[in-house]
Amino acid sequence: MSPLIVDIIYLVAASFFIFGLKNLSHPRTAVRGNLLGAIGMMIAILVTLLDKQIISYELIIVGFIVGGAIGAVLAIRIQMTAMPQLVALYNGFGGLASVLVAGAAYLEAVSNSQSAGLTLNLSSQYTTATAASCLIGAVTFWGSLVAFGKLQGIISESPFLYKGEQVVKVLLAIAVLILGYFIMINPETTYLYWMLALVSSVLGILLVIPIGGADMPVVIALLNSYSGLAAAATGFILNNTVLVISGTLVGASGIILTNIMCKGMNRSLSNVLFGGFGAEVQSIDKSDDVYQGRVKSTTPEELAMLLESARRVAIIPGYGMAVAQAQHTVRDLMNLLESRNVDVVFAIHPVAGRMPGHMNVLLAEADIPYDKLKEMDEINPRFNQIDVSIVIGANDVVNPIARTDPKSPIAGMPILDVDRSKTVVVIKRSLSPGFAGIPNPLFAADNNLMLFGDGKKMVEEIVKAVKET
Ligand code: NDP
Repeated sequence: MSPLIVDIIYLVAASFFIFGLKNLSHPRTAVRGNLLGAIGMMIAILVTLLDKQIISYELIIVGFIVGGAIGAVLAIRIQMTAMPQLVALYNGFGGLASVLVAGAAYLEAVSNSQSAGLTLNLSSQYTTATAASCLIGAVTFWGSLVAFGKLQGIISESPFLYKGEQVVKVLLAIAVLILGYFIMINPETTYLYWMLALVSSVLGILLVIPIGGADMPVVIALLNSYSGLAAAATGFILNNTVLVISGTLVGASGIILTNIMCKGMNRSLSNVLFGGFGAEVQSIDKSDDVYQGRVKSTTPEELAMLLESARRVAIIPGYGMAVAQAQHTVRDLMNLLESRNVDVVFAIHPVAGRMPGHMNVLLAEADIPYDKLKEMDEINPRFNQIDVSIVIGANDVVNPIARTDPKSPIAGMPILDVDRSKTVVVIKRSLSPGFAGIPNPLFAADNNLMLFGDGKKMVEEIVKAVKET
């Protein structure tokens, strides 16, 4: 196939990626977006396979079967709640692939020129891209493994802070820049590549290990962006336009997502990366002081009676709804209430759950119409007109302390103002804190009732009780 035709088809694949991303920006069109992206990827892979530069189809088939089988098993078996760790692993392996592919192409170029007895003549674009692939790829791989370990509970979720931490990181960053520079001016000294990979790996570990588990999803979005940049750099080495374009798209969308998540938590990126969030909490009231003698619990039957006279109900899903996999039962409750002329809406916080769009995905899975989902800015001014707010497994995103205590670790984080509705019912198993690890005064508020139990089981019992009223 002529290089021109290959490039034209790559451009078509890249257009599919761009339209895919555009469609992914809205839940209604997200499935189509996914499909368009997949078609683009299929075109890119087929053209690459048909291109004459393939050395061994056998090895590719083996890789396809082994990698495909591992991917399929992971995708089928993974729990929705473990999705952030899975994404971390995918990013990490993307980074590792960039280090290996860029390294192989570079070593091949050096050995080809040596065996032909020619002086090595690599452009500065080539050597810069080689050093960038190695550096960003290795940081992404090791950083992602640490993020995976923290979320999976293999290593401690708490931030690991030590004296002189920033100095060590700055020194390592200087070391990688110097090594990168030497690769550019001495490309024939190939061991520098592996030294760069080694030092970048240590940097990747040390960059992520001080960050607390609560911030890992933000870090994963950032590492996702890095994996794209590493792939784009590898695209320059291989002279592969579709890799340059797709890597750049991943890099850009990853950084946009990181920004959205930081905004949702009212944190700056530098605060997430260097703030050691969760290491020390400046002001926490003890749970006993907040809750003692003030928490009122309720039963599904009592809630059913409350719902009988309610006209407007808001459902606020959180991480616990995902854990309990209660979304289908929640849909049944919505249908039942609507059949009794109750207006039901879902209040969605941008960082509810453990990954961006977590609640939207779960509710879409249960076929809850998108127009029922209200973003925070839209629903907050309406909470004072809501008769009953049912909070299912959400905690931090409804914690009024974010508004009242400037020293709290979640100070300034925009929250859903459920406490302004007439009655609030919080469904969770205990008074345990959420991800931020702090008590929630909402649970002790006068207009709040606790319904203790597993999210799915409790909603099932509410449905049963409402049917019986
Ligand atoms: P939280 O982590 O604050 O609270 C979840 C609550 O769910 C817990 O208090 C737990 O209480 C309850 N729960 C757990 N299992 C069940 C179950 N089976 N049934 C009922 N309840 C259950 O969740 P939120 O969604 O309110 O907040 C998300 C947090 O994650 C925020 O702090 C946010 O900043 C953070 N975060 C989210 C990101 C994202 O992308 N979404 C990114 C970065 C951070 P109990 O054990 O008593 O049942």
